[in-house]
Amino acid sequence: MLTNAKLVHSPHDHRRCINAALARANDLCAAENHRLTPTRESVLRLLWQSHRPMGAYQLQDQLAKISGKSIAPPTIYRAIEFLLKVGLIHRIASLNAYIGCPFPTSDHSNLFMICNQCGSAAEVALNSINGLLESACEKANFTLQDQSLELFGLCPNCSSEQEQDFAEDGKQDHE
Ligand SMILES: [Zn+2]
Ligand SMILES: [Zn+2]
Ligand SMILES: [Zn+2]
Repeated sequence: MLTNAKLVHSPHDHRRCINAALARANDLCAAENHRLTPTRESVLRLLWQSHRPMGAYQLQDQLAKISGKSIAPPTIYRAIEFLLKVGLIHRIASLNAYIGCPFPTSDHSNLFMICNQCGSAAEVALNSINGLLESACEKANFTLQDQSLELFGLCPNCSSEQEQDFAEDGKQDHE
């Protein structure tokens, strides 16, 4: 199983995530003869600003702030399309937002655990899930072309906060 769930949901030096993501992007583009243009790199960097998915409008807004000039939507969409195509980012369909991929050159399940409270999204790749889905599709004579699994719930941080809140509410009830 490949996942960045532990890292995403614990306090960590996030600069290392950003640096590692950019290093991976440079390696991947060099190996596959792609150009990581300044715009593509800026969009990738913005998507790695945190572990929360970001929509195209937000990207456009933030890129305009960084560059100090207005950015045309097609510029953003072209960069997003490229990053999606080479596997450096994913689209979270239900949020209509994008997130950086922590293991772009590995086998994928496209499974995301998204926190309803803080909005963080962790990615999981699990061969057993892929096998299950493949056999289900086979049995249904369904040709699988793309898969995306989006799980919504509470990350460890937010669920422990809720437990504390419940505990405190409980105490007040007894007072
Ligand atoms: Zn991080
Ligand atoms: Zn991924
Ligand atoms: Zn959370």
